[in-house]
Amino acid sequence: MTSNRNQILKEMGITQWMLRETEVGIVADDASAQIPNSPVVKEPAKNSPTAVIQIEDVSNSGIDEQADLNALRLSVAACTACSLSQSRNHTVFGEGPEQADWLLVGEAPGQQEDRQGKPFVGRAGQLLTQMIRALDKTREQMFIANTLKCRPPGNRDPLPEELQACEPYLLKQIELIQPKVILALGRISAQALLKSDQPLGQLRGQVYQYGPDKIPLIVTYHPAYLLRNPADKAEVWSDLLLAHKQISE
Ligand code: SF4
Repeated sequence: MTSNRNQILKEMGITQWMLRETEVGIVADDASAQIPNSPVVKEPAKNSPTAVIQIEDVSNSGIDEQADLNALRLSVAACTACSLSQSRNHTVFGEGPEQADWLLVGEAPGQQEDRQGKPFVGRAGQLLTQMIRALDKTREQMFIANTLKCRPPGNRDPLPEELQACEPYLLKQIELIQPKVILALGRISAQALLKSDQPLGQLRGQVYQYGPDKIPLIVTYHPAYLLRNPADKAEVWSDLLLAHKQISE
């Protein structure tokens, strides 16, 4: 962490990052409330911000078991499994190294992403890049993907049947990349990954263990939300520190 990061945090509107880091460190050290033998999803334990929750029984049916990331990308590009295939300009598979430590999962492509076929471009993408730089990382070090690979018209919320149709691609991406930490950006991503209907505010602040490999999963706000609600940037910073702690211990 460098003084350059202080400047980035200042640009993000965060000036007390040392305090936030200390708070997160204390909280994380107290994490011991693992829930054994839980089903696919357990409700977050109230007043227990560090409860570790098992998420099991994820499956990737419908995808070639032997597929690598390139084969998976081609499958997505040709996919017509839901009606979004009819209105998209480009699929947005995601980008990043195959062995990325971090997997960032957003909601769905927006207008710019649909045009360019890349995730998180435009203003929200710029803010995401700032957030990553604040961790002394670069975008190129992280795999950045979305829950849906095609743009919902008018940027509406994804429909349940669209999320269900697209889910196998994200599950296979997780299986292939084997990230050390997953950061769910926004309500749609968090609810889809955690199989939950809890509001984002209740899903934040905990370390989930995702799938059979128990990959740490952290929930935070979507950068597009932060553009509308900059006061919550400090909350995002605490989430980023919590995620960072999972792979730096
Ligand atoms: Fe296929 Fe997913 Fe695109 Fe639907 S959103 S067409 S399931 S790639």
